[in-house]
Amino acid sequence: MTARSTTRPGGSAAARTVLMNPGPVNTDETVRSALGGPDLCHREPEFGALMTRVRRKITAVCGGGDDHTSVVLTGSGTSALEAAVVSAVPAGGALLVVDNGHYGQRLHDIARAHGIRCVRLELGWGTPVDAVRVGRELAADPGLTHLAVVHHETSTGMLNDVAALASVARAHGRRIIVDAVSSVGAESLDLARDGIDWLVGTANKCLEGMPGLAFVCASRQAFEDLAAHPRRSYYLDLHRHYAAQEKAQAPAFTPAVPLFYAFETALDLALAEGVAARGRRYGALAGRLRAGLAELGLDIPLDPRHRAVSLTVVRLPEGVRYAELHRALKDEGFVVYAAQEELSASFFRLSTMGTMDERDIDRFLSVLGRILPGLRERTAGGEAA
Ligand SMILES: *Cc1c(COP(=O)(O)O)cnc(C)c1O
Repeated sequence: MTARSTTRPGGSAAARTVLMNPGPVNTDETVRSALGGPDLCHREPEFGALMTRVRRKITAVCGGGDDHTSVVLTGSGTSALEAAVVSAVPAGGALLVVDNGHYGQRLHDIARAHGIRCVRLELGWGTPVDAVRVGRELAADPGLTHLAVVHHETSTGMLNDVAALASVARAHGRRIIVDAVSSVGAESLDLARDGIDWLVGTANKCLEGMPGLAFVCASRQAFEDLAAHPRRSYYLDLHRHYAAQEKAQAPAFTPAVPLFYAFETALDLALAEGVAARGRRYGALAGRLRAGLAELGLDIPLDPRHRAVSLTVVRLPEGVRYAELHRALKDEGFVVYAAQEELSASFFRLSTMGTMDERDIDRFLSVLGRILPGLRERTAGGEAA
């Protein structure tokens, strides 16, 4: 069991901070210690074998079959999203982006940055996606070759119905790119079953690995077809990475070798636990957290039918400012996370990803209940700032 204390960093080495930000998450001890694996040249066959195992395990965790494969990149989730967008859309192609939060908007911004024509279906943050409306947009503009959607919109905690959207895309003969960065590993998502063309994920969220590796999963044929597409990027050219990783069993460029050790360990844990079981574990923690927040009188605005298991967006209590709440909780060993953009003034976010457990949630709730009255008084008394 891990000792906890309120000692600041640099104090007790045993102090454990519970990360309630949506990645990077608290990791298993075996994942952290795997980072200290042997020094290794990335051009040696040992690394090629490690990378191939990691890619195979990624494909398995994404629900890929024998026809699917994956490509790993050294970079954060956004690097893999950018690689997928710039590589998948052919010359003269265009993207329809479903935008109901910060990350939908990011997909649009990525396409725009590369001069890819992009139609943005701006629904408003936290507005559920209507698949029929997406179908109408696709029908109205035959130039839209791809649909891009975020599975778990981490800005609002909303889960978008990726299977329904994939089915609409397929019905219209279009391809779908899914940002599954904060869902893969815990939410129900299956490359083969759901008919997803491009699935993008990262090591350090629900897969409970270290930050710094991201991946794209698709059919082998889809990767092969990229050869005919324009090279809009040198480093983020997915076909280049695919050719190196799949054909030569070697990385295109110098990868973050130790992160592969840690990621393989994390993938083994994820596959042993199973995605459905992990989803239930996160869901039970989120349920416990949400019930406790409600008892404290805090409001969770998102409709329960749309909530992801790994994130809860909470309204800041009247008179409490985020910066003070964050500081007070950090002093007690909990890192909470600000909301983004339009939600930042009135909301904050609590993640239930990673190796936290029921005791962490219970202690968090009791600490929160204890500090809230003081935070309210301070603001009321005009002491803040
Ligand atoms: C975290 C996240 C990303 C990627 O963020 P990085 O900081 O680049 O890892 C992309 N999309 C979603 C939905 C996310 O939650």
